[in-house]
Amino acid sequence: MSISIQNLTKEYGSQKAIDSISFDLSPGEIVGFLGPNGAGKSTTMKILTGYIKATSGEATVNGFNVNSETIEAKRSIGYLPEHNPLYLEMYIKEFLEYAGSLYGLKGKALKNRVAELIELVGLQREQHKKIDQLSKGYRQRVGLAQAMIHDPEVLILDEPTTGLDPNQLVEIRQLIKEVGKNKTVILSTHIMQEVESICERAIIINLGKIVADKSLHELKESGQSMEEVFRNLTGTQI
Ligand code: ADP
Repeated sequence: MSISIQNLTKEYGSQKAIDSISFDLSPGEIVGFLGPNGAGKSTTMKILTGYIKATSGEATVNGFNVNSETIEAKRSIGYLPEHNPLYLEMYIKEFLEYAGSLYGLKGKALKNRVAELIELVGLQREQHKKIDQLSKGYRQRVGLAQAMIHDPEVLILDEPTTGLDPNQLVEIRQLIKEVGKNKTVILSTHIMQEVESICERAIIINLGKIVADKSLHELKESGQSMEEVFRNLTGTQI
């Protein structure tokens, strides 16, 4: 399994941000992790990426336990956090070289990898710019390149299209689909169209519990739209 989560729980005081959730992702899957605000999506992703520890339960990435084999698990993961934190004063290449160096890449291998990613995410025309000169859509491409610099098996993308304009949205979704051909991808979102355009499967979480884990085909079997399915499962309008 690329990702395996078993009975994962995270408590903040008396509140359970996630409550004994379990799911598995096989290699090559692109899965949408859906839920209203506060459902527990970011909490789950932060545990997977080793940023916070679960209160109980287990999570493995690429077979490595995120608690006891943290370094190996982190090597297997590319993470694009919510709001895509970047060093705005850095040049694109400088930033990507820095990100690559943190994973031990150096010399010609590092330069080649940065050039490869700039091409893959479509930053050729912008490549000599500083990050603060870029539009939000292009910054998102830098964030995706950063996440993939060490060629991880698994990509974890936390609301990767939030705040993008309609053209940028389409382009970034296309890009995620493209890069997802060779990786396992879990992406959180509260946008239905996003799931329908990128994912084959959706895991829906509400109030810290998983309320559905199905292929999009199965979810829509009743003839309802994804919006209706979501409303029925979560009691929340999307
Ligand atoms: P989502 O990403 O689905 O919007 P989160 O995982 O961010 O949801 O949050 C799940 C719940 O946990 C929310 O009720 C949120 O307020 C709570 N929460 C998240 N982080 C903290 C924290 N550091 N301290 C206390 N409560 C938190």
